[in-house]
Amino acid sequence: MVLLFFLVYDHFDDKPLGERIPSEENDMVFFVDIQTHEPTTEQVDLIRDTILEKGMPAVIIGIGGGSLMDIAKATSLMVCNEGSSTLYQGLNLVKNPGVYAIGVPTISGTGAEVSMTAVLTGPEKKLGLKCDWTVLNQIVLDPDLIANVPTNQWFYTGMDNYIHCIESETGDFKNAYSKAFGDQSLKLCLEVFLGPEAGQTPENDEKLMIASMLGGLSLTYSEVGVCHALSYGLSYVFETRHGLANCICFNHLEDVYGEGVREFKQMVKRFKINIPQNLAKRWTEDEITAMAEIALPLEHMWRHAFGPNWKDKVNLEMIKDYYRRM
Ligand code: NAD
Ligand code: ZN
Repeated sequence: MVLLFFLVYDHFDDKPLGERIPSEENDMVFFVDIQTHEPTTEQVDLIRDTILEKGMPAVIIGIGGGSLMDIAKATSLMVCNEGSSTLYQGLNLVKNPGVYAIGVPTISGTGAEVSMTAVLTGPEKKLGLKCDWTVLNQIVLDPDLIANVPTNQWFYTGMDNYIHCIESETGDFKNAYSKAFGDQSLKLCLEVFLGPEAGQTPENDEKLMIASMLGGLSLTYSEVGVCHALSYGLSYVFETRHGLANCICFNHLEDVYGEGVREFKQMVKRFKINIPQNLAKRWTEDEITAMAEIALPLEHMWRHAFGPNWKDKVNLEMIKDYYRRM
């Protein structure tokens, strides 16, 4: 029987963190490639099958970024649920609770360490396995682990958190919980990315790690919005990574998220981050349509952003126009 199953971002294979993993005789350590693509249903199914060949694990531990949090969450569920993970992409489709799962984030911003979804890209859609059992049983937040994240990636993933909070607070599903968590997260985020002491410092690493957790709670009680719907389309068609895809989309959403986008642009300027622009010129009509066809069915996001009558406003052509701005 396998007791502890460690899923670790493969970048750490030959790094001090990789060597510090406290695995013992009956445990397994599995280094996961997340460079080639974001987590997929196929990848999770394969990891599940590999684990079950050895036996049912007692605990699954994910060490890495949002990708690893999601892989650990999904794998914990999939060792207890039959068939492919594609069957469970959606809300409350999972039949059995998973095994005990622990997350150790090494980059901050996705909020995946506390959210109730495990986002996977499948053959037909990029969509989370979302239910009460998806939430990790335990998380270990150690800001030292995020100290060496390259600046661009630090910014993109950090902005994922900023955008979660702006979207969660700007929409129909907002409520006292999402606002309380979102406000506090935004305050910390602004200190980290715009304050007099902005930048990658040990104090800010602590703040960002907490901001990410609070942002994840904010969006869990509310919903994400236009930026995430568009970003899912972009990631699906062009495999653009989540944080960067959000930045590309959010940059052009001043008419929806006004002050939030203006502040975002100040942060981009402050850290001299390159956000790709003029992309639509190179996109074909088919590619734009394909992205819009992924974004349109994300009804809960459109409903949150534009209210109960969202269908009067949101349609394929309108979404294609958003992509044409990019
Ligand atoms: P990631 O896990 O995809 O990792 C991105 C990169 O970060 C890696 O390639 C690596 O270069 C770098 N990295 C991570 N830790 C590092 C460290 N300590 N030192 C050096 N480099 C490090 O990044 P992410 O932005 O955290 O996660 C994105 C994923 O999270 C996407 O798959 C997205 O769909 C998912 N997501 C999930 C939720 C959720 O609620 N479940 C929310 C938002 C995003
Ligand atoms: Zn996000």
